[in-house]
Amino acid sequence: MVLKVENLKKYYGKKREIRAVDGISFEIQEGEIFSLLGPNGAGKTTTIKCILGLRKPTSGSIQFSGQYGIAYVPEGKELYENYSVERMIATAEELTENFDAKRCWKLTEEFNIPFREKLANLSNGEQTLLYIALTLSQRADLYIFDEPTLGLDPIARNKVLERIRAIPIENEGAAVLYTSHILSEVEKISDKVAILCNGKIAEMDLLDNMKEKFCSIVLENVKLPDLPFIVKYKSTSSENVYITYRADAERLGFECKPASLEMVFEAVIMNQVENSNKG
Ligand code: ATP
Repeated sequence: MVLKVENLKKYYGKKREIRAVDGISFEIQEGEIFSLLGPNGAGKTTTIKCILGLRKPTSGSIQFSGQYGIAYVPEGKELYENYSVERMIATAEELTENFDAKRCWKLTEEFNIPFREKLANLSNGEQTLLYIALTLSQRADLYIFDEPTLGLDPIARNKVLERIRAIPIENEGAAVLYTSHILSEVEKISDKVAILCNGKIAEMDLLDNMKEKFCSIVLENVKLPDLPFIVKYKSTSSENVYITYRADAERLGFECKPASLEMVFEAVIMNQVENSNKG
């Protein structure tokens, strides 16, 4: 196990009234790509900052085990604007333990980053790609990416996803903690997924299990069957599509269609919001 988070809480505000993270527990195993999903303000970045020691948890425990440490691509990526790409790589080599400059040059080429340019002259996407290249060139036990593909074009995004997917293969025992709002990319690379809502984990499982647990059913009339979990996903003039647990739907004899991660995510969040409105 690379990381174990137990009952982590982080409250902000004078009276600790902002419950950014409200009692979450999860583990990341060696070789695993673990994605933390959730709507804006769900508590993803706060969780990451607690793991990195950038925020002091209100309570709970975080255990990291590894020999190389943690490499991190933050949401806001700041680099030395006056440096050239060449100088940035040389500086990273000087300052970072277990940094492979050759690998960084290769990634710079693969990501088409103009290496003689000053960082201030790079486009936002190029700056992001350079940050990712620098992080991928560091040997770590846990690689944390907080929305790494934000602002990248689809081709660059796929290159980055491929490299992230390769992390546990190229670095034996290493694991990845990943966040993104683009669920199709999460679906491409994740082994395990946790859906965070209002600082709590609403759903967590291996990606395949999570998609297997839910299904979509079509209902023609508005009378809802009595099910423990049923959320309307969409309505057209001819049909209503609902997301529910596959086991319940099958028991009642409904025709079950697969639910994508996006459908599951929306249903889980809508269900949480409905429940918190009721409560
Ligand atoms: P996004 O997807 O928008 O990046 P997130 O899931 O990463 O969101 P966080 O940045 O962890 O969300 O924020 C969780 C909650 O905590 C939000 O309601 C945010 O306003 C609040 N919060 C975060 N940092 C602070 C702070 N320093 N002081 C007060 N409130 C904070």
